[in-house]
Amino acid sequence: MNTLLKGKKIVLMGVVNKSSIAWGCALALKKCGAEVIFTYQNDRVKKQLDRLIDENDATVECDVAEDTNIQVAFEEIEKRFGNIDGVIHSIAFAPKEALEGELTDASRDSFKIAHEISSFSFVAVAREARKILNPGSSITTLTYIGSSRAVSNYNIMGLAKASLEASVRYLALDLAEQDIRVNAVSSGAIKTLASSGIKGFRELLDDAATRTPAGKQVTIEEVGNTVAFLMSDLSTGITGDLIYVDKGTHIS
Ligand code: NAD
Repeated sequence: MNTLLKGKKIVLMGVVNKSSIAWGCALALKKCGAEVIFTYQNDRVKKQLDRLIDENDATVECDVAEDTNIQVAFEEIEKRFGNIDGVIHSIAFAPKEALEGELTDASRDSFKIAHEISSFSFVAVAREARKILNPGSSITTLTYIGSSRAVSNYNIMGLAKASLEASVRYLALDLAEQDIRVNAVSSGAIKTLASSGIKGFRELLDDAATRTPAGKQVTIEEVGNTVAFLMSDLSTGITGDLIYVDKGTHIS
């Protein structure tokens, strides 16, 4: 264990199982000595989370579909843990039928759901979190290159990720007055519960790996390490930015 994040309390949103990118973040945060507060979507997710975490790890329920849930969750966090030093938002959702075929097939409802859960929730989380974030804190979200390139079947999620990345820049501007940094990590394709919902994801995964300079896929641990760096005081010069952690897929 190193001491990079010793004394820092980090809220981690989005672990559902050991394939989750957020779980890669949890491993990195703990390796660096952070205190991790896990939020989970509902009781079903909590059961899965409980199998991964230690008995004394802190958990707080937070379904980001409602603003009041987010408000209540951060009030509970303040009550139980006081001020915090960072938030990691590793949450996305779109109805399965929106992640196949063509964008013109998309419904208004799936657009709304994808944007609310995958983009607006980040703004809503920042609004509540800033009330209890210490100066020098850091907020990070997870995004994907489908925001700036047309990736087959990603469709509505590509639009939501573009919106999420724009929100990173605006939030960085707003929260700078509190000395809070806001960034995004653009992960390469990784097989997870969420990504398995994208039609043809297996091919996308194989294609991504062949396009990396070393011909390898990125791991959740590698993504987690970069997120831990963004939570740390080593990254105080970075805000409003996007860091690719994809083994170089985006260069080709
Ligand atoms: P995952 O399924 O492990 O995690 C998704 C999480 O979102 C789950 O914990 C789920 O409970 C949570 N979630 C969904 N709806 C929610 C709600 N209403 N309230 C609270 N939580 C909710 O999948 P993942 O791939 O680890 O996804 C994490 C993030 O990484 C997402 O933003 C995803 O878009 C992004 N990402 C994934 C990949 C990939 O290839 N897997 C690549 C780039 C970016």
